[in-house]
Amino acid sequence: MIRIEAVRGDITRERVDAIVNAANNSLLGGGGVDGAIHRAGGPRILEECRLLRSTRYPDGLPTGEAVATTAGRLQARWVIHTVGPVYTRDADRSGLLASAYRRSIRLAAELGARSVAFPAISAGVYGWPMDDAARIAVTTVREVAEKEPVGTLELVRFVLFGPAALTAFEEALAG
Ligand code: ADP
Repeated sequence: MIRIEAVRGDITRERVDAIVNAANNSLLGGGGVDGAIHRAGGPRILEECRLLRSTRYPDGLPTGEAVATTAGRLQARWVIHTVGPVYTRDADRSGLLASAYRRSIRLAAELGARSVAFPAISAGVYGWPMDDAARIAVTTVREVAEKEPVGTLELVRFVLFGPAALTAFEEALAG
């Protein structure tokens, strides 16, 4: 059984095995949670991201996929970088947002993580409305937890920066 919970906080301070980064396709750093993770984790994370760019992902990490690196100086053991879609009203990209969560959980399970923390992927600079982002996040994590082998994974924690985000995730978890 996997426990799924939502807390308010700064994801860089989480004591979990893996923290998920809402990265961008370049993998070379950005603002928001991405910038915070690189600042707190130090240069080794960016070094591994650069290596990934020169090997597996010369064109960058595709939207909806996930890849792991060291967590550098963070408490966590791994950072799982995933790329959520930019929100637009002109197209339904919710499948890509669900994929970012699904691929991250699968990777956490493959790595042997027991706990993983997620931010609200795509719900910052990428513009996804928070309530909908929370609903997609919770639905996807529940679905993977029910239907797929998750190895030693026992805790999925959503770590939300602000009160509105926390409320949105609490409501999604209650629904
Ligand atoms: P995206 O580009 O995928 O939208 P952002 O980093 O802009 O990613 O925002 C994703 C969410 O992460 C936003 O809700 C933002 O408030 C939140 N966030 C930013 N910094 C942190 C942090 N240190 N810990 C947890 N959440 C954070």
